[in-house]
Amino acid sequence: MADGATIKFWEDCWVADDSSIKVLINNDSRIPTPSSCALEFVDSNQCWDIRRMMQVISEEIINKIMEIHPPSDTHGPDTPVWCPDQNGKFSIKSAYMCIRSLADKEAMPVWSKIWKCQAFQAGRFLLWRLAHDSLPTRARTARWGNNDPRCVWCKNFRETNTHLFRECFKVARIWRRFINPKDYAFFFNLPLKDWIAWNLGSGKVFCNIPWPTIFTITIYLIWQWRNKSLKEIDFSVPFDPERLILCFAKSHVRAWSVVDPNPNHTVNRCGGLIRDEDGSWIQGFKKRIGIATPLTAELWGIFYGLSLASSIKASRVEIESDSSMIIKHLNNVPCNDLEDNHVMKKIKELISRDWETSFSFIPSKLNRCADYLAKESLSDNWNLDILVSPPSCIGSFIREDASGLIPLSDLGG
Ligand SMILES: [Zn+2]
Repeated sequence: MADGATIKFWEDCWVADDSSIKVLINNDSRIPTPSSCALEFVDSNQCWDIRRMMQVISEEIINKIMEIHPPSDTHGPDTPVWCPDQNGKFSIKSAYMCIRSLADKEAMPVWSKIWKCQAFQAGRFLLWRLAHDSLPTRARTARWGNNDPRCVWCKNFRETNTHLFRECFKVARIWRRFINPKDYAFFFNLPLKDWIAWNLGSGKVFCNIPWPTIFTITIYLIWQWRNKSLKEIDFSVPFDPERLILCFAKSHVRAWSVVDPNPNHTVNRCGGLIRDEDGSWIQGFKKRIGIATPLTAELWGIFYGLSLASSIKASRVEIESDSSMIIKHLNNVPCNDLEDNHVMKKIKELISRDWETSFSFIPSKLNRCADYLAKESLSDNWNLDILVSPPSCIGSFIREDASGLIPLSDLGG
């Protein structure tokens, strides 16, 4: 994303690797202008127009958008990127890997995906048994004795794993309510283990619920209904199973949201301050930056700090951060992870301007002002908050931090 003039906001895959916003919000019919480009969602202050997005898009997706720097005329034209390749360049090999669902991100074995997915334990255990082909389906138990191998619902086919959980008319119509028609061929034809891995690896959401959660719950309920159908003559599958599945999934997601399972990838924030050569306060800032890794949050802190220093026409700036990895890289130590980071590219663009910049590591105990500002910004809105005077509660930190070797600035978060 550069000037955002050719990227279709709703239809192009620019927020997630494999899904457009239109797919992420489940083809919501409230999309006002389907052909809008990304640039149209930037307000007059060069920030994302959150208010406009909030009418249709969930907070989770807005968090992802906020992590991407808003497009601007000054960034040059947009560049297409081939997502299946790490470098963004098309190659026959990466296309082949993609088609066969063997792309790098799929490399995690199905077993790891099962145990790591955000689902309840009984659901994960059931998936594990299904992937091991150890469930006592009727086709399987018929091999051991004289049992009827036919499906308890349709009585037309052998009750194999794939028939019971995917193909029988009773369950196929449930899946069709959830799955995008363009994925039908994939969904209904993958071999069993690949099918489980594909669903558990999906980044899609349905009614704000991650698809792996809905998938696991659906599998679990199908097995429960099948067992009841075998034991209870009067039992029939609920009239509207999709609603039941979603109710189950919603209560499950609420229970999960109390504890974030991935502390390295949470809603994040950054903050920092600029001082003069005596360590006295010049300006501060804080900003909520959405879902980001701690490393990217740190980079955003440096980016906004540099932007602020540039706006006040500083000619010589020393940047301090408590991330030694970032400081080393800014002092020309190669690091692939940082090289490819989109925020680092923006930082380097700022550094290349006509001013003097230097970078040094600062222990976190001497970085309390920036740390405090970053933590404080969690409850703020999405705009960059510029602080003309220091909050009273960090006054003593400023004096103490300044008594260390802190000549000009203190960025980070
Ligand atoms: Zn059947």
